[in-house]
Amino acid sequence: MIEPNSHVAAMAPYALADLEGPAGKPLNSLAQNESVLPPSPKAITAGRRALETARLYCDAEWTDLRAAIARVHHIPAEQILCGAGSMELIASLARCYAGPGGRVLSSQYGYGFFRSAALAVGAAYDQAPERGLTVSVDDLLGAVRPETRLVFVANPGNPTGTRIGYAELVRLRDGLDGCIALVIDEAYGEFAEAPGEAAFGLVGRGDTVVLRSFSKAYGLAGLRVGWGLFPPAMADQMRKVLNPNNVSGTSQASATAAMDDQSYMLATVAETTRVRDHFIIRLRNLGLETPDSSTNFVLIRFADADGAARADQTLREEGVIMRRMTGYGLADCLRATVASEAQMDMAADCLALWCQKEGLPC
Ligand SMILES: *Cc1c(COP(=O)(O)O)cnc(C)c1O
Repeated sequence: MIEPNSHVAAMAPYALADLEGPAGKPLNSLAQNESVLPPSPKAITAGRRALETARLYCDAEWTDLRAAIARVHHIPAEQILCGAGSMELIASLARCYAGPGGRVLSSQYGYGFFRSAALAVGAAYDQAPERGLTVSVDDLLGAVRPETRLVFVANPGNPTGTRIGYAELVRLRDGLDGCIALVIDEAYGEFAEAPGEAAFGLVGRGDTVVLRSFSKAYGLAGLRVGWGLFPPAMADQMRKVLNPNNVSGTSQASATAAMDDQSYMLATVAETTRVRDHFIIRLRNLGLETPDSSTNFVLIRFADADGAARADQTLREEGVIMRRMTGYGLADCLRATVASEAQMDMAADCLALWCQKEGLPC
């Protein structure tokens, strides 16, 4: 019998979305935080053109892509690393800086892939309490142990949708020992109301990384492109563990064109947040609890886990697929990705029907 490494055998598989709906009904997937809008037409054209040179290995230096990111964000191209989604960068950070005997820290509702990344390298994974579904800097600092090597904070958070301000990030960084790497995952940074740029300023300290993704605001989840701003010394170490040809030529070309088309991305964000805020108002009018969201999704809290399960059932019967949050210790919640206005109206209508069925005052 072939035995895996014992820490791998002990891991649970990463929980993917359950996209099962009723037969014969069109499915409205609100389960994976994908963009409601297609990518920029310029990204599609660039990707198609890049296919013509697909017999060649792609640019291992991501030259054009890094130049585009550097231009838009006013950051040095040499300190940018790209990954097959930011997930590859998260996993590689764990491979670089954690391992057997080490510990990785995140918060109570921290993004589930942080756990997978830690456990896959044989490190232990700790979670500090959140307050009001929001990251608590004091609780994170209180949960640091002598073996803690790496702290992951998704800001805004997934699945909560909430965020902490720059001053809080600085307080977190100041409170952590200089030998602990802090990773600020801004996969939803483009949706955050406050200018999301500030966190890049922390990278100059040499111990902090900021991650971004093309999967959400840029609508390129299927092409798998993420990037991060790294201190030079950390970037050197990361290159040793990254796959040297990690982002396909098609993906690099499309992402470069998408980055160059900021007005398209900003219009996507504006439309998504408009529909999101309208949906939140409808939910609150039904008496449902939702934290303010700085992302392209909404967390909906029901009275208890059974209520959330019955709401999920009602929605699924109509072909509306939200994400159960049981694995996050939020069994009383569903997470709804913001889709089109028509889809969100339909979802809200289903929830209104569910409230009626439950005999709730709405
Ligand atoms: C979606 C998401 C990611 C993954 O992004 P990819 O670039 O698609 O790998 C990373 N972090 C958080 C918090 C996310 O929600």
